[in-house]
Order: sequence, then structure tokens, then C-alpha cells
Amino acid sequence: MATNLWEEALSELRTAVDEENFNTWLQTARYRGFENGKLHLEVPSAFNRAWLTRNYEEVIVRTVERLVQQPVEIDFHIDPLVDAAIDTETAPASETESPNSPFWLSDTALSPKYNFKSFVVGESNRFAYAACQAVAEPETEAWNPLLIWGGVGLGKTHLLQAIAHEFLARSPRARVRFVNSESFINGFIQAIKQDRMAQFREAYRKVDLLLLDDVQFLFGKEGTQNEFFHTFNELHSGRKKIVLSSDRPPSEMSNIEERLRSRFEWGLIVDVQAPDLETRIAILHQKAEMSGFSLPNDVAQFIAERIKTNIRKLEGVLTSLRHHWRLTGEPISMRSVRDVLGHFVVCDEPKRVTVDCIQSCVCDYFNLSLAELIGKERHAKVTLPRHLGMYLCRLLTDLSYPEIALHFKGRNHTSILHAYRKIEKQLLRDANLQALTNYLTKKVQETGE
Ligand code: ADP
Ligand code: MG
Repeated sequence: MATNLWEEALSELRTAVDEENFNTWLQTARYRGFENGKLHLEVPSAFNRAWLTRNYEEVIVRTVERLVQQPVEIDFHIDPLVDAAIDTETAPASETESPNSPFWLSDTALSPKYNFKSFVVGESNRFAYAACQAVAEPETEAWNPLLIWGGVGLGKTHLLQAIAHEFLARSPRARVRFVNSESFINGFIQAIKQDRMAQFREAYRKVDLLLLDDVQFLFGKEGTQNEFFHTFNELHSGRKKIVLSSDRPPSEMSNIEERLRSRFEWGLIVDVQAPDLETRIAILHQKAEMSGFSLPNDVAQFIAERIKTNIRKLEGVLTSLRHHWRLTGEPISMRSVRDVLGHFVVCDEPKRVTVDCIQSCVCDYFNLSLAELIGKERHAKVTLPRHLGMYLCRLLTDLSYPEIALHFKGRNHTSILHAYRKIEKQLLRDANLQALTNYLTKKVQETGE
């Protein structure tokens, strides 16, 4: 039974909105009352507010209007206790701007999905997990810094955000800043341009916990490294906690100042390895359950035996399965898995897929030139192929949104993110597009290196 207006609205919105978005964006808003046609909702950050306003305000308003039978406006309030920075993957810069601070200082989006509870522990990450839990206790002095390194898609960002969540849960007034190094770099450049270094420094040096994701982006960037060096020193000497992630251990960091590398080695260095079969199966079951469906054991085993390294790819497979299940209503079985995922799991070690090969497969299929595919024209003839190309790049390679953007002439990560979301949504409704996506995926994987 719904106990308040917002819960009533949520139960209707649940059917209208993609499940993952529902959980991430709508369910995290808290009801603060309804007065004079105004619905008051509290959200965790300015980024959530911007996102909700942009994508869901209309549907929320319509839903609530139907329930109360009067015109409705929404007032989003920001939870004052949460304060951190942005993750470029989840927070496109242009959408994080809040009215009174530049985007690089605005508060943030930690994904509620990335917490300790949703992290599956196995031999490959047990030690890293324990270290993160220790650091997440505000009262305990732990290794400083903690550096987690490992390959793509093995859970580094997940662990960093889990630390942030836990730290905030235990110490709600703490100042926690989680940021991808790319944002740190962009923020630094912006701050110089706008002559606002004092604010930039304040934002990074007056925190209780700083989590810097993907420090390898700092390599080779002298000015930013120097800035980070001083940030590090100030935090460290003030006994504030620093957590870093990197795609390689300090011993293999080239292009980085020696003094910074040696500081990375002051604390504890842990790695996350590719998970073993058992852990991959457990992850599949857990992710399926979080998305609201259950995965038969033979299916989980079948997938986990074929996708061995990148957990993000395991999730990609689950997404395809979920689309199929939603569209057909058929329970997931070995047969449906072979139907849907034949292409995904044809060989044990799929060939290496590159952006070039995705672009050329898409061009071939739609009979376009590369210039047309990545150009600026906006005819329907080129936009779908372009969006599909972007989608496939994200799905089939390990590249981040900003990295993919480099291959689509003059665009930034926001465009790629939007294309990805758009196709993802369309796939839910459109069986033809699904068949086409499967076909192209298969082609791409056959022609990979
Ligand atoms: P990285 O930052 O190392 O590239 P991420 O933290 O982004 O990897 O992880 C990629 C995806 O895999 C995320 O959706 C994350 O939730 C999931 N993931 C990785 N490791 C685990 C794990 N041990 N348990 C559950 N999910 C995991
Ligand atoms: Mg990451």
C-alpha cells in the first residue's frame, strides 16, 4: 500500500521508466511533502537534480497531476549532507552545473548502485575489499593513501564509490570528494582560465576524504601533477584520507614525477584481479537479481565460462538478456541465451574489437562513408547508424565515453553517453533494432583483430 503521494506516483512511474534509471534516479528521491500544487522532493546532489529535471520532470509532473487532479510543479531540494565531486562517466559536465557554482566544484553523483553490499567478494578482490572497508571507517587511521590498481572493468570505481558511501553513512557531515582524474584535470584548467584557483584548492584540500579515480590520466600532465602533489601533501599531513585507483602499479607508472610516485607508495597498494569462475557466476546472479530477474544456473555458468576478464562485459550480456526477456516475456533458458547471445559468446576469447572495426561494419551495413558516419549531418539516414556505432563502441570495447568521443569527430563524452542511453532505451521496444544490433555485434566480433 502506498503511504504517500510520492510512493503512489512511484508505483506508476515504475512501469513507465527503464528499471535501471528508475532505481538510480527516481527511487533515490525522497518525499518532503506536497503543498499548494508543489511537490517537494529531496535528491542526493545537484547532478541528480539536473538529471531528473532534464529527463523525468515531465513524466513526474504528468503522473502526479493525474493523481491529485490539479496542476503540479516540482521543487527539488538537495540533500545538504552529501557533498562530493563528479564522475565523468556518470556525470556529463554540461549537466552538472548548478546555478551558483562552476561544474567542477558542484556536488555530485555517486551511483547508489556502487556500494559494499553489491560488491561480490572472491579470491581476486578479497584483500582490496577488506582494505577499502577499513579505509571507509572515519574513526580509524588506515593506510594513507590506499591505491587500488587493476585492469578495466574489475571493480575499482565500484570500490571507490563504496568507500565514499560508507564513509558518509558513518559520518554524514564529512566532506567527501569523489572525482575522476579527468575531472580533476578539467577543473584545474577551468580554474586557471577563470582565475579561481583559490576555490579549486579549497574544494580539494578542505575535505576529509578524497577519492581520485584513474590517476593514470595525470601522467604526463606536469601542471596538474604539481597541483595534485600539493593537494596530496596538505591532505596527508592533515591526516585526511586519500584513496586512488590506477590501471597499473606505481612501479609501472612512467611519465610521472618521482616525488608523486613515491608518495603513492607511502600507504597500501592492493590490486584487483580478474575474478575466477565461481565469482563470475556469483556476480551474474547478483546483477540479475538486482535487475529483477533470475538466471538459471546453467545459463550463468555458460556465460561465465565464456566471458572471463571484464565484468562490464558480463553486465552487457545481462542487459541483452533482459531486453529479450522483456520483449518476449519468455523465461530465460539456454535456448533463449543461444538465440540472443550467440554472437556474444561464440568463442571463448572474443577477438579484440576496435572502434575502427565497429565503424567500418556500421558503414558497410548502412552503405555510408566514414566521413558521413562521424560527420555533423543530422539526417535520419546518418543519425541512427551514428548512434548505433557509438552504442556498440561502448558495449564492445573497453573504452570510456571520453575515449570513444575522440573517434567521433569533435564530440565530447556527453554525446556518446546520450547516444548510448538512447539506443539502450529504443532496444527495449524495438525488436528489429535488437536483431540489427545482434547482427552487427556478430559481424564486428568476426572481423575483430
Ligand atoms: P573499473 O573501474 O575497474 O574499470 P568498475 O568499478 O567500473 O571497473 O566495474 C565495472 C562494472 O562491473 C561495474 O558495473 C561494477 O559494478 C561491476 N563489478 C566489478 N567488480 C564487481 C564485483 N566484485 N561485484 C559486483 N560487481 C562488480
Ligand atoms: Mg573505473
